[in-house]
Amino acid sequence: MITFLSGGTGTPKLLLGMRDLLSDAMTTVVVNTAEDIWMNGGHISPDVDTVLYLFAGTLNTATWWGVAGDTFSTHEALIRLGTDEYIAIGDRDRAIHLARARLLESGSSLTAATSAIAARLGVRAQVLPMTDEAVATMVTTPDGPLHFQEYWVRQKGSVPLLGVSWTPIEPPPATPEVLAAIRGADAVIIGPSNPVTSILPILRCRGVREALAERPVIAISPFIGDAPVSGPAGALMRAIGAEPGSLGTAALYGETVRLFVQDIRDPAQVPGSVRLDTIMKGREESRALAHALLGLMRDLGCAIPI
Ligand code: GDP
Repeated sequence: MITFLSGGTGTPKLLLGMRDLLSDAMTTVVVNTAEDIWMNGGHISPDVDTVLYLFAGTLNTATWWGVAGDTFSTHEALIRLGTDEYIAIGDRDRAIHLARARLLESGSSLTAATSAIAARLGVRAQVLPMTDEAVATMVTTPDGPLHFQEYWVRQKGSVPLLGVSWTPIEPPPATPEVLAAIRGADAVIIGPSNPVTSILPILRCRGVREALAERPVIAISPFIGDAPVSGPAGALMRAIGAEPGSLGTAALYGETVRLFVQDIRDPAQVPGSVRLDTIMKGREESRALAHALLGLMRDLGCAIPI
């Protein structure tokens, strides 16, 4: 089994190509939940949703969120009714949020709710929320703290960032399923996701770093120079006092990483890193990167369960 640590764009792009080479049943994805938010009765778990839709074959891969071909009738009707819904939620996407909300409200854990929804969607990969506790990435702005979704979706990332924190302050425990999936993995891949909002929330879950220390871990940088391939990772790295780039990313991940992968175009020099073409514009490039990573895993002596 190969276990991935994932956000909702960079790592799912890699998983798209990996699916051509590795059976879904041999794939486990530990997913960030610190961007989760309740909205108009639904429970949005944006990164979990993206990973579920990817494995269900329904993901909109033009945007890397939502269901391909979804309609927005309910969202548009709610806006006409004056309801605040700053995230454009598709109709089929909303059905998942409502189903998850019902499960959570009737006492299911997020792990159990995700597993139940995954089974209904025909997902064969194991998709594991990082924790069953509610946790939120908050950003500090000159006007006060904002939930990350408020900053990135409502404000379109337009306000200055002064800091990043998590509520609750105390790191949540990783679920037993997550720790077992890391300890039982032939290799762990930290995909090219946002280090601050996607990977750090997973790494700070209690037990995760200790479990990773026992396994071969490969991490892929989401940066080329001081700019991420997409999204707000640069500003977020600066906001936590880290260098925006591969050096800062490698430092954040620390000694848990056995092999750090940088893009061939990246001018930064992380000592001991491996260079690969990590730009995934489509399925071909994703598959090529996945293929190269499987080669690295073999070089590390990992059994690859194809
Ligand atoms: P989010 O949850 O939507 O923020 O998505 P992730 O955290 O999973 O991924 C966002 C990160 O993916 C950004 O920091 C991007 O730089 C990175 N990214 C997106 N596409 C690529 C790509 O093709 N190659 C690499 N190396 N990184 C990418």
